Amino acid sequence: MLEEYSRVYAKIDLDAVHSNVENMYNAMPRGTNILAVVKTDGYGFGAVPISRMLMKEPYVWGFATATAEEAFELREAGVSKPILVLGYTFPYAYDRMLKENIRPAVFRYDMLKQLSERVKKRRNLGGNEVFHVHIAVDCGMSRIGVRPDADGMNFFKTALETEGIEVEGIFTHFARADEADLTNAHDSHKIFSRFVNDLEAETGYHIPLKHCSNSASIIDMPEAHMDMVRCGVTMYGMWPSDEVSRDKIKISPVMSIYSHISFIKDISEGTPVSYGGTFVADKRMRVATIPVGYGDGYPRSLSGGRGYVLIHGEKARILGRVCMDQFMVDVSHIPNAMEGDEVILIGEAEGEFGDDFVEKITVEELGDLSGRFNYEFTCNLNHRVPRLYERDGRILKDSEI
Ligand SMILES: *Cc1c(COP(=O)(O)O)cnc(C)c1O
Repeated sequence: MLEEYSRVYAKIDLDAVHSNVENMYNAMPRGTNILAVVKTDGYGFGAVPISRMLMKEPYVWGFATATAEEAFELREAGVSKPILVLGYTFPYAYDRMLKENIRPAVFRYDMLKQLSERVKKRRNLGGNEVFHVHIAVDCGMSRIGVRPDADGMNFFKTALETEGIEVEGIFTHFARADEADLTNAHDSHKIFSRFVNDLEAETGYHIPLKHCSNSASIIDMPEAHMDMVRCGVTMYGMWPSDEVSRDKIKISPVMSIYSHISFIKDISEGTPVSYGGTFVADKRMRVATIPVGYGDGYPRSLSGGRGYVLIHGEKARILGRVCMDQFMVDVSHIPNAMEGDEVILIGEAEGEFGDDFVEKITVEELGDLSGRFNYEFTCNLNHRVPRLYERDGRILKDSEI
């Protein structure tokens, strides 16, 4: 491992991302497109390397981001497939989106008007692009989207008549597809299907891409796949929730995080550890300092013994508070732990006694221990943690990413 990654690095297994997406695809009827959701820098895993890899797959129709800037970043990195911005996009971004064929989600009349004006302006300058839009429909989330009612119908007709706009898709988002009881999601799906049927029947316009499924419904509501599914969290090897089936699709973890012990010392009984002295040694102890903290996105809520790391394949419990850039763990039971030894924050320890004894920390477990979502953790892991990408069992060079 390169010296510059000694403090901390996250290893992203691109082979696992690839097989996770492929497993999703294979679980659906042939012809279902995948819209790979890579918002928030691909949930913290790296939108660019993942999109560059997946754009080569014919079944990946394109990519979804939350903001226009995330879409621009992908274009700059050479991602040429369609990109849909899932949220509301503010008007400052429209000119560039038009030039780069980035699809906005639409659900406001003023937005249709402004998009159309940008197209006309560009035509006067010799451009011939149009906006391919996806209409967002609110079927129970109350976030963004037109309602599936008469006004929604009117919005659809207005979009069809608006110069410079082509309705390429229509979508809704489930509020409760990750629960054991799927009544609510089934109802939303029914409302959405009926609404889309009505739109098409009344106007005679065929909407090419209808989509509503996220990861949870890809797994547990295969009947809702429609033309395309939006695959996010499972792509990154994480489960949407505890209530989603685990036996239908195989998902492998993608991220491991490694650090190295920066300091080791013995402390005597009665010695406080870290800010506030919230932990006081009740006996003689061996303590290792890890040079990572909440400034990296490692949750402060793991303080006070809630979290642990793996050293020499054994669990080492966090002592006292996690600081911004460092935290301490108990290695009293790991006498051979030394300064410079590897520390696993997320991942599997290679078993010293064969695979049967492998200790591991999953993102799920770390999320549970810290009182957060699994992907809240990966999204918050910030740029101070370098990402290394592994493909075919080998770490890629920057030029290969
Ligand atoms: C984030 C998001 C998704 C992806 O959801 P996952 O549960 O991560 O698969 C799909 N659709 C919309 C609208 C989203 O905002």
